[in-house]
Amino acid sequence: MPTFTFSAQVAIANPIIFVFKRTYKTSRSNMSTETENKATVLIVDDMLESITILSSCLADEYHLLTANNGHTAIELAARHLPDLILLDVVMSNLDGYGVCEQLKAQPCTTEIPIIFVTALLNAADEERGFALGAVDYVSKPISCTTLRARVRAHILQKKMKDKLLAFSQELEQKELEADKSKRLLNAVLDAIPIRVFWKDPDARYIGCNRHFANDNGMNSSEEIIGRTDFDLMPERAFALQAFAHTVITTGQSLLNQEGAITTHDGKLTHISLNHVPLLETDGSVIGIVGAYEDITQRKHTFDALQDAKIKLETKLTEIVSLQEKLLEAAVRDPLTGLYNRRYLTETLDIMLAQATRNKVPLSAVMIDIDHFKDVNDSYGHPTGDEALKCLAQFLSAQARTSDIVCRLGGEEFLILMMGASGDNAQMKIDQYRDDFSKILIHYQNNEFKLTFSAGIAVYPQHTENSKKLLEYADLALYAAKHNGRNQVSVFTKKVR
Ligand code: GH3
Ligand code: MG
Ligand code: MG
Repeated sequence: MPTFTFSAQVAIANPIIFVFKRTYKTSRSNMSTETENKATVLIVDDMLESITILSSCLADEYHLLTANNGHTAIELAARHLPDLILLDVVMSNLDGYGVCEQLKAQPCTTEIPIIFVTALLNAADEERGFALGAVDYVSKPISCTTLRARVRAHILQKKMKDKLLAFSQELEQKELEADKSKRLLNAVLDAIPIRVFWKDPDARYIGCNRHFANDNGMNSSEEIIGRTDFDLMPERAFALQAFAHTVITTGQSLLNQEGAITTHDGKLTHISLNHVPLLETDGSVIGIVGAYEDITQRKHTFDALQDAKIKLETKLTEIVSLQEKLLEAAVRDPLTGLYNRRYLTETLDIMLAQATRNKVPLSAVMIDIDHFKDVNDSYGHPTGDEALKCLAQFLSAQARTSDIVCRLGGEEFLILMMGASGDNAQMKIDQYRDDFSKILIHYQNNEFKLTFSAGIAVYPQHTENSKKLLEYADLALYAAKHNGRNQVSVFTKKVR
């Protein structure tokens, strides 16, 4: 237990402050804690004797300040803000009531509890003191026990009141901060062009942003609270509840689910929907957060692009096919449909290279209808055309797929026979010649038969040069014509 000594500075000049010193036997740390925790009491009395008595009762429990007149009391109270004031009622100049009135009028001292200390204690005085804001009366002569009990009770009450006030101020501050954070969060949520909502574990809405509320025909986000998808969009409620259920039970997010919703104004809106579990700090799922984007415009653009792509692809296919037709037309003879001289020019060297690679001969067979001029002269040009078509079909039908049949112009044809030696080619073409000579050609009441002559040159036997090969075949044909027509001749050096 600490022991106390106190010395009193007694002076006539104002203010008179008694400084009571303690002598501690406890450690320094205990001392400082106790000193800090000690409440301060201001004793106001114009009688030194009273101050001494009051001080001796309280010195071991409190820091004490003293004043021997009202003005000093007000000044000390404002400067030190004591936890309690013991105030003498009867004082010269400014009495206790006047001091009390002024202290209550100053905001910084208004909350300090005041106990009147007086010998007068009639009901009217008591009433007046309480009316001015005093908390209690202690009557003179002083009972130390009563005084201590009263002072302790009021200081405790004051401290509780202060704590309560501080707590409520702190609470108010926190509420203000929370409110500010909430407003900021709402502003952010309302600013983003995405619909955001959150639901409890029963899939009831507990909040949303303005866009989501507006989509559902509500003016404010608060209106969503407590509703379910069955209230908002009954036709999709089961699907949406299933999403929510999956996320809540698995704790896993469901992202980028594309779908369509109908907003309150009947507009079909394509959306990309995300559901994310709402987690407590311990990781338990306490609901879900959902967010979706209106992708209607993007989808329309995508669909339009797809359409345009399909149309372009169709056009491209048409162009390619047209190009192929044009290319084909460029190498085809329009009357007979056989390859033309251009095709032959483009193909001959390739065919020769192929024959070399395959180590096989290639026979070039030049064919010319005998006395064809007579057909035109006798039956007319269209009938001549018909005869040309007839031979073209005949040669195409006879030829192997590896053979190339061309019409070089007029009534001249050429067959390239891959792998055919001179003898083979001669045998085959002679058979063609014989067969064709027996065909009766009908056209517009005209009936006639035709023969052809053919000349054969063989690669690489006769030449390795493509131009020469055709020349030699032509020379062989000339020989066949010269020898009486309707026959097949193979190129020989003699012919040359
Ligand atoms: P040769 O036995 O010597 O070959 O006698 P030819 O009458 O068959 O030969 P010539 O070269 O004297 O005559 C060929 C004829 O073929 C002349 C030409 O009017 C005709 N002719 C050429 N091209 C065509 C065509 O596309 N259609 C028709 N109808 N006749 C054509
Ligand atoms: Mg001719
Ligand atoms: Mg001819």
